[in-house]
Amino acid sequence: MISVVTQRRTPGSQTSLREANRGRIVDAVKKHGGLTQVELAGVTGLSAASVSNIVKELSGTGVLHTSPTTQSGRRAQYVTLAHALGLVVGVHFSTRHMRVALADVAQKVVAEHHVPLAKDHRADYELDKTALLVVDMLESVSASMKEVLAVGIALPAPLNSKHGTTSRSGILRGWDGVPVADVMRRRMNSPVFVDNAANLSALAELRLGAARGRRDAVFIDVGDGIGAGLILNGQVFRGHNGSAGEFGHTTIRENGPLCRCGNRGCLEAIAGGPAILEHLRPTHGALKLGDVVSRAMAGDPGCAREIADAGRHIGVAAANLCNLFDPERLIIGGELAKAGELLLGPIRHATERSVIVGDDALPDIVQGQLGVRAATLGAVSFAIDQIAVSTDTIGNNTSDTDAIGPDAIGTVTIVA
Ligand SMILES: [Zn+2]
Repeated sequence: MISVVTQRRTPGSQTSLREANRGRIVDAVKKHGGLTQVELAGVTGLSAASVSNIVKELSGTGVLHTSPTTQSGRRAQYVTLAHALGLVVGVHFSTRHMRVALADVAQKVVAEHHVPLAKDHRADYELDKTALLVVDMLESVSASMKEVLAVGIALPAPLNSKHGTTSRSGILRGWDGVPVADVMRRRMNSPVFVDNAANLSALAELRLGAARGRRDAVFIDVGDGIGAGLILNGQVFRGHNGSAGEFGHTTIRENGPLCRCGNRGCLEAIAGGPAILEHLRPTHGALKLGDVVSRAMAGDPGCAREIADAGRHIGVAAANLCNLFDPERLIIGGELAKAGELLLGPIRHATERSVIVGDDALPDIVQGQLGVRAATLGAVSFAIDQIAVSTDTIGNNTSDTDAIGPDAIGTVTIVA
């Protein structure tokens, strides 16, 4: 688990209590990506005066950064990690795209890049290219590799948390058996952390988007593949092996079409991007998923019908998910979600038909707020989560005063 690095002191002493409180504040800021002081008091259970003192102290030591904002029409202080602590990299590989974001530890993106990928691209080649691209992006903001504290990578496949590889071959061809974090760590000389893209999209929507403040929600990613990120009790749920949320491989037709995972009748094989394109090929020729969305929105009845049918299938599967987890909200993201109500309407209709809770307890079904950047931003958040910020203020006056020693600066270490 991630924890704030603190020096051991006598438990129960005034000093250890203050350190524990500093740790709680920094953890809360990391977890929420930024909060006002009032929100910090609510989240940590500390008094407004303690929060104010600790924030002042940690701003002085270069760990936290405050900026003025307004909340409910009143002036407030917005608290984030200090930008100067360093940079993190978030990378999202999908089957056809690679997105990279360079961000500071306050989650502010300072550079971003997008590259299309060939259909059956090879992991080693793409990881090489990514490392070179990151060097260019660092140069563009006058930074160097030394300032990169951690790298987060989102992959569109279930991952084996023990081996750091995809857990089922065939789902992401070209990546089978590749220990992604190890390979990338050697190229970047930085700690690298890998997770499933739907999990990281869910994390980003939880911190910055449509799931903010929700305890139980499901993010459904609909694009080339279909995946889900489960938010249970305010946290992303990864399951025993790290492969929870493989929603696209839920069987919805026992003898249905063969899926790339080797099973038959998976949701993805019926309602995923390649299936939609295949259904449209006889009437519309070779299209890309983005073309289907834009044509549907421009009134093409065939494209609109395909999206609606996909929505209906997703809704049936989502109802099963709702009956299992009883989420408050379903967030629909990924490339197909750009179709808005053309997709969401049929999902809502099918889900509501089969969910067993009463009409007054139905989950609301909304579009993701972060669009196709969700997994990249989630990879950034995931990387930030792995950084332990030292809140130690040795040599400082640690009593509840404004006095901050001039020689103390925030430091960071990585908890692997
Ligand atoms: Zn499958």
